[in-house]
Amino acid sequence: MHGKRIAEIMERGMRAFSEAEDESVLLALETEYTGRKSALGEILKGLKDLSPEEKKEVGPIANEARLALGRAASAARTRIETRKLAEDERFDVTIPGSAAPLGHLHPITRLSHEIEDIFAGMGFSIADGPEAETEFYNFDALNVPADHPARDMQDTFWLKQDGLDEKYVLRTHTSSVQVRYMESHVPPFRIVIPGRIFRNEATDASHEHTFHQFECLMVDEAGSVTVAHFKHTAETFFREFFGRDVEVRLRPSFFPFTEPSFEFDISCILCDAKGCPVCKKSGWLEIGGAGMVHQNVFTAAGYEEGKYQGFAWGFGLTRLAMMKYRIPDIRLFMGGDVRFIRQF
Ligand SMILES: [Zn+2]
Repeated sequence: MHGKRIAEIMERGMRAFSEAEDESVLLALETEYTGRKSALGEILKGLKDLSPEEKKEVGPIANEARLALGRAASAARTRIETRKLAEDERFDVTIPGSAAPLGHLHPITRLSHEIEDIFAGMGFSIADGPEAETEFYNFDALNVPADHPARDMQDTFWLKQDGLDEKYVLRTHTSSVQVRYMESHVPPFRIVIPGRIFRNEATDASHEHTFHQFECLMVDEAGSVTVAHFKHTAETFFREFFGRDVEVRLRPSFFPFTEPSFEFDISCILCDAKGCPVCKKSGWLEIGGAGMVHQNVFTAAGYEEGKYQGFAWGFGLTRLAMMKYRIPDIRLFMGGDVRFIRQF
């Protein structure tokens, strides 16, 4: 009698476990078929009251049923969990993807490209030179006297000599490329030299030890390049760069590598030359230095003296970027703060 009942329980239980679809159903089935208070549990509990013969007959069947139902429950649990895991990881192609973050060029690099394009449009080509430069190209070849204060440790980063014959510096201006270029080129030519330069100075809102400069050099036969060419080139460049007419003003100055030499200003683009805090109410912004290439520089390059003439001028790209984007602190450019860079 017990045997038949156990067989029925087991059959129903096995089917129910094999059809169980979720965790809550499975828990209920476990209570119903394998729990202490289940029909089978009651039979197992009652075994002790049976006669030895009955016990011998029912005991093994009941235990076998208990184990079989336990295995069925455990198989059902594995099946349900595996399917749930697969559903959680299912790839939904309709969910919009998250875009990978894209970098962009540093504002100085972008401006540098812009400036190169403007000069290229005027027939200039781009020249380049090393940032660790010999004393010769940075100073001697440019007619800078041996006792010139610019060579002082205070202004220049001198590099360790370490067995080298020549002394090296971190170039203090892009003019260091002038004679390098001339040594391997015969005029006429016009070039621009973009690049980083280095000064040994304390930093503040308007001073950096590392900044970007542009050098512009145009050389041709004597008599064919004049200060007027420089002024025209500069005016054309700044008009293109700022997108409006800009006046260029020259003031007499002195540089060892040019004669005559000038400082040049442009009319203040922030206040239309009316006077503002940036131009200190003068209406003019100091931009850079310029002049006619000194004959000693041509001689250092191996050119025949008096044969050629040319102008050279340089300006700080970083300073122009500050004006163009109205950035109050020069240190932001090289500071590495991504929040600043992201604005461009
Ligand atoms: Zn102004």
